[in-house]
Amino acid sequence: MIRAIRGMKDILPPETSRWQWVESQAREVFELYGYREIRLPLLEKTELFARSIGADTDIVAKEMYTFTDRSGDSLTLRPEATAQVLRACLENGLMRRAGVNKLYLIGPMFRYERPQKGRYRQFHQINCEALGSDAPELDAEVILMLVDLLGKLGIKDLRLLINSLGCPECTPDFKSQLQLFLAAQEGWCDDCRRRLVVNPLRVLDCKSQHCQALLVGAPVMEDSLCQDCARHYRRVLSLLEGAGLAYEKNPRLVRGLDYYTRTTFEVTAAGLGAQDAVAGGGRYNGLARELGGPDLPGLGFAIGEDRLLEVLPPEAGLEGRPLTFLAALGDAARERAFLCLQEIRAQGLPAAMDFEGRSLKSQMSLADRLGAAYVVILGDQELASGQALLRHMASSQQDAVPLTELAPALAARAGLKEGS
Ligand code: ATP
Ligand code: MG
Repeated sequence: MIRAIRGMKDILPPETSRWQWVESQAREVFELYGYREIRLPLLEKTELFARSIGADTDIVAKEMYTFTDRSGDSLTLRPEATAQVLRACLENGLMRRAGVNKLYLIGPMFRYERPQKGRYRQFHQINCEALGSDAPELDAEVILMLVDLLGKLGIKDLRLLINSLGCPECTPDFKSQLQLFLAAQEGWCDDCRRRLVVNPLRVLDCKSQHCQALLVGAPVMEDSLCQDCARHYRRVLSLLEGAGLAYEKNPRLVRGLDYYTRTTFEVTAAGLGAQDAVAGGGRYNGLARELGGPDLPGLGFAIGEDRLLEVLPPEAGLEGRPLTFLAALGDAARERAFLCLQEIRAQGLPAAMDFEGRSLKSQMSLADRLGAAYVVILGDQELASGQALLRHMASSQQDAVPLTELAPALAARAGLKEGS
């Protein structure tokens, strides 16, 4: 038997209802903040990611799905969205429009990582990007929107970690201080020994416990921030405080991509184990320039949808409109029931019946398996009297309802107006 690729999973019903629900909540919240959807290809030129994410990051060094297509071009399955959203904005001239461009993108990402709990090779992200402003209000708004959404989804025990990574004015100074500190210690992992020469900030992001322990006492970015960056950071924090949002400063937070500047943040949720980040994001003021565009400040975040689903309350997103099952006995009753199906659906309510001519008993157990809230029993006798038996499954209460009234009666019970 052919199986799915390692680290890539099928998402099946009823779980898919929960994914749909999460995405519809996201769309609703994003709309409140002025975001519009953008849909982009899964494949991009390899160069786009190599240039933006940074050559010495895990993503570019070892995680990309890269291949040469039939015309000899090097293509990569997108490992993240920000670079391609910017690519699309530059290419389509989206930022020539006035004001801040606010975009969201929902879809799969691909990284060749070691599969484990909360880590897949195809995973799914809900991304938001706000382009065109360096105002700290935008940073605070983006973070508030993220927390707003996670709250509406019912995610509990969230922690917001925040840091500032400075700008090209102040980061180089910090990097050399850090490099001095790192070089004075022994025992770094092989990756970090290389990083400490090429890209010392990456050491802060090392997943090894041993390296993390060696980092105790390392210089922190906040002490090296230039005046503008320090002011920006203070303002973001005070706006969050004003909105009543609790945060934790984490001076080690650098995240897995090189393009971040100033505000960086991560949201973790309890109950996820080692991979506990449900969302991460930050500012990337230099990225557009890096991609050959103009100076275009911006920031964004990505929610890991697979991890989010793991901490979603168990019932969330599963309740739909009540299902009515039509249990019909005999050919004539089945034909009438087939009509009723469409009448009920026209009221905006789901309806199902058996097409196989099963016995009443097995139709009742089918109704049960489908989770029907109501069962309508329709046989020769009911056809003759023009009334069917409507049974509410949870209470076992039964009422005789005229066949012509069935659909509106069900709509009334579901609290729907006729035809809505
Ligand atoms: P991590 O430190 O967990 O590797 P990251 O810094 O690589 O995360 P980002 O690139 O910022 O993550 O992606 C944002 C979010 O996407 C993460 O917080 C996480 O929820 C999710 N994510 C990243 N990689 C994976 C993966 N391989 N499988 C599932 N979810 C992932
Ligand atoms: Mg990662």
